[in-house]
Amino acid sequence: MAARPNPYLDELNPAQREAVEHLDGPVLMLAGAGTGKTKALTARVVHLLNTGRARPNEILSVTFTNKAAREMKTRVGKVLGQVVEGMPWMGTFHSICVKLLRRHAELVGLKSNFTILDTDDQLRLLKQLVQAHGIDDKRWPARQLANIIDGWKNRALTPDKVPAADAGAYNHKGPRLYAEYQDRLKELNATDFGDLLLHMVTIFQTHPDVLEQYQRWFRYILVDEYQDTNVAQYLWLRLLASAHKNICCVGDDDQSIYGWRGAEVGNILRFEKDFPGAHVVRLEQNYRSTPHILAAASGVIRGNSNRLGKELWTDREEGWKVRLIGHWDGEEEARWVGEEIESMQNGTRRMRPFSLDEMAILVRASHQMRAFEDRFLTIGLPYRVIGGPRFYERMEIRDAMAYFRLVISPTDDLAFERIVNTPKRGLGDKAQQTIQRIARENGVPLVDGAALAIEQGAIKGKGAKALGQLVTDLARWGQKMRGPVREITEEVGKMAAAGEAEQIFRIEYGKPEISHIELAQEILEESGYIDSYYLPKKDPDDPNEQRKLKDAEAGGRLENLKELVKALESFENLQGFLEHVSLVMDNDTDESGAKVSIMTLHAAKGLEFPAVFLPGWEDGLFPSQRSMDESGVKGLEEERRLAYVGITRAEECCTISFAGNRRVFGQWQSQMPSRFVDELPEEHVEVLTPPGLYGGGGFGAAQGGFGDTSSTLETRASEANVYNSPGWKRLQARSGDRPISQPRESKTQVIDMQAVSAFTIGERVFHQKFGYGTVDGIEGDKLEIAFEKAGTKKVVARFLCAADD
Ligand code: ATP
Ligand code: MG
Repeated sequence: MAARPNPYLDELNPAQREAVEHLDGPVLMLAGAGTGKTKALTARVVHLLNTGRARPNEILSVTFTNKAAREMKTRVGKVLGQVVEGMPWMGTFHSICVKLLRRHAELVGLKSNFTILDTDDQLRLLKQLVQAHGIDDKRWPARQLANIIDGWKNRALTPDKVPAADAGAYNHKGPRLYAEYQDRLKELNATDFGDLLLHMVTIFQTHPDVLEQYQRWFRYILVDEYQDTNVAQYLWLRLLASAHKNICCVGDDDQSIYGWRGAEVGNILRFEKDFPGAHVVRLEQNYRSTPHILAAASGVIRGNSNRLGKELWTDREEGWKVRLIGHWDGEEEARWVGEEIESMQNGTRRMRPFSLDEMAILVRASHQMRAFEDRFLTIGLPYRVIGGPRFYERMEIRDAMAYFRLVISPTDDLAFERIVNTPKRGLGDKAQQTIQRIARENGVPLVDGAALAIEQGAIKGKGAKALGQLVTDLARWGQKMRGPVREITEEVGKMAAAGEAEQIFRIEYGKPEISHIELAQEILEESGYIDSYYLPKKDPDDPNEQRKLKDAEAGGRLENLKELVKALESFENLQGFLEHVSLVMDNDTDESGAKVSIMTLHAAKGLEFPAVFLPGWEDGLFPSQRSMDESGVKGLEEERRLAYVGITRAEECCTISFAGNRRVFGQWQSQMPSRFVDELPEEHVEVLTPPGLYGGGGFGAAQGGFGDTSSTLETRASEANVYNSPGWKRLQARSGDRPISQPRESKTQVIDMQAVSAFTIGERVFHQKFGYGTVDGIEGDKLEIAFEKAGTKKVVARFLCAADD
């Protein structure tokens, strides 16, 4: 192949060029974020093709996501000026290994048409094994075993290689069950995800001829995001590269964020040992971000002790400081971000206009997305969620919503089908078919079919009891929602022609017995749904026993449920909420047009956006509670790397925010700004004032304005709280003579939600919905009020004000 002109090399700096042109032997490109590692790797692929060193199918190029592989193909195509066909070995570890394993399945006892089990299937299979062993899977959940086995597979340990130190795993039965599980998979001609790599490593280790074939075939190996490879992936690469050693890995130890999934940052650190004489290229010029953003990120990551340490520089214009803003609560944060995005679209005196595609919100935990999704829907701001289902599509949210739907509308058969055996009530397929049949025969909804089935004795035993309970619960919740029913018969007039009195029946409902928020909580608790995410209690009678979560995912799911209950607070009733959700679900059918991206920090790796919002920088959320509870700094250091990844996604504008309060199950929880906020070097940070502080102008506005500035009780309350938080005071102290001050005197009474003692027993209060009343009891932020008209109710302090105001 004749060498084509190579303008792609002209776009590179000398260090990048060196990495691209050094084609023979091992190359390690170890460099910080935004220094053009991926760009250089792509150029290397082009260069290999362009110089005729390799054909497209002789290059093995590993990316971290399929999306990244597609992007790389597009980039290569662009540079070459033609569509790249046949780059079959450009993809993720998994996608490449599936292809290879199909060719050699028989070497590990599989057929080439093996199926790949998803996590649910995997779990079901493990459960069967666990049961066959008579193990109490309540005490020893199969999910736990699944995690242990995944861990072994990540470390490339086949059952015979499980180390003695792990013998005690899963009540000493782990290793044996692992072996049985692998046998069972073989019988089923199936693999799980972890097997794809594990089998390939086994095949390469036990069949030198096969290994040799691929060593010859893959003449050049390239790996992006090398810092996040696990041991199995590492071994696989090392085996393939061990003959020709034409391997080029790029990575950044500061961006290793998958330790929790078995990634070993040590892989990158020992590259030079594995491949003696490796050509190491360090890139130091960052092309992505402005100096302030880069310096802020560097300042944060400096807090980690366990790092190689790299200095980055940029010759970009100074640009904007990283903006920092505190809010009253999560909803307020979402409201502000929404308005800010709208005003940034138009451009401000200080900033160029940004299109929606140029902006992204990166969250630490996926449950944070809900507040933004809701807010954006309300104001009609187009958004997309990248890498994972949107909030209302998640399993636990759909389950919970099915309960709500059924309470509102007992004829909702789809909802009934979803929850009849969720949580498990011992109602298998057969019982469900019986209910379906009886409902069909009688022309009634499934709920009624269920009641009939019990009555007729068509369903018996434990299942019948649980089903009966569900049917009565549903009716009871419905009644609580609607209030007591009154049928009224009245004469409304005489029909003129017939001269007869016309009587109509009117059904009148009383007042709901409890708020829809309390009801939602009750439903989730009484149905046993929340309970199903915990392990059973050791002693059912001990009210103080600390419950343990069922598995690694349970915590996240419970968080999402809390978030769901939180979402209800903005609606008058369940119906209004369900309507809103159906709108949310409809929102994303239109794929065209510019949209703000919402994703987790993990999903944002390798990406870049002109403007990035990083909300929820609060201790316990980011860094996560788990990382803070851990002994040692390992977890915390990984969180800090995640903060570094987040900030370095931004090109021009990076906005970090935190909230002083978050509502958790209707209860206020006061939040401390993240320790990472403290670690931001102050000379690169501009502290924004929440709108409303100066009665409309705001510090930002005085300097040119960011966003709108409506002044409400809520924002003022927010200022009061945020500005009283210890974190904020620290910030204020650091900001020197910045015009950050306490909120202006306001005539509106600020009710500090943390200090509910603002109300005293016996005090007369006013509630917007229930009117006047007297405080009877105080319990945290909830008050028991004897309302003059509405009777005694528990209400949240924030909805009250002193009556004489
Ligand atoms: P990360 O660590 O976040 O994955 P990276 O090191 O892979 O970052 P790239 O995504 O390759 O960095 O590049 C970051 C940005 O800098 C991209 O927009 C890229 O086009 C640009 N860039 C990289 N190298 C150069 C260069 N030599 N000249 C101009 N722009 C460059
Ligand atoms: Mg990259």
